[in-house]
Amino acid sequence: MKNDTVHFFNPACTFRLSVAALLLVSVILSGCLGRGTVLDPKATTRCVFDDERLRLTADYCRSHYGMDSYQLTEPEMIVVHYTAIPTFEESYRFFAPVTLDTVLRQDISSGGQVNLAVHYLVDLDGAVFQLAPDNVVCRHTIGYNYTAIGIENVGKSEADLTEAQAASTADLVSRLVMRHPSIAYLIGHYQYRDSGLPHYRLFKEDDPGYRLTVKTDPGPAFMAQVRALLKERYGLVLLE
Ligand SMILES: [Zn+2]
Repeated sequence: MKNDTVHFFNPACTFRLSVAALLLVSVILSGCLGRGTVLDPKATTRCVFDDERLRLTADYCRSHYGMDSYQLTEPEMIVVHYTAIPTFEESYRFFAPVTLDTVLRQDISSGGQVNLAVHYLVDLDGAVFQLAPDNVVCRHTIGYNYTAIGIENVGKSEADLTEAQAASTADLVSRLVMRHPSIAYLIGHYQYRDSGLPHYRLFKEDDPGYRLTVKTDPGPAFMAQVRALLKERYGLVLLE
């Protein structure tokens, strides 16, 4: 006698269900991610990329790095930030538009139309959201976007950042290094202009008129916390 429960666990049927689930996931993701997407298994996807943003990212890569693509295939570094915005939803709304707010960010508007973005946004409670696949360039750190994965932590200032965010950032960094063995450097955004640090060898900026802005995020105490957790939990030490 046929039984629906037994039928459900029929291997052929389970396979068909898995294929259907995969198709559903790819339909949900295809609006902004497309083929060859690299996603983090523990992050919730809130992708801000569509075809227009990819096109503008390719324009940015052409004028700043002489690249003919928006692809980030072998990342060499991770840059950690805070958003300087107090809540997750407000932070997300800042990154969601495709084009830069040229009134608010007049300081960098000469650098291109594409809006700022990062790959990951970590909420105050440590929840991780993925705004862009690992293999797409995001505009977050002048001079390094062509090779850097960006992680933003929600917070108005360093004092707002939580232990849960430090722990989630460290766990995420370890997963990124596992996925991308090409990653050798980890810095806080405030360190990006320091020519005395090893990561500076990666600095690249083809547009001589594009100014380097002064950054203080996410601060040395937060980075020390992340580094200590990486060493303690994963035995992982990355260059600055
Ligand atoms: Zn930053």
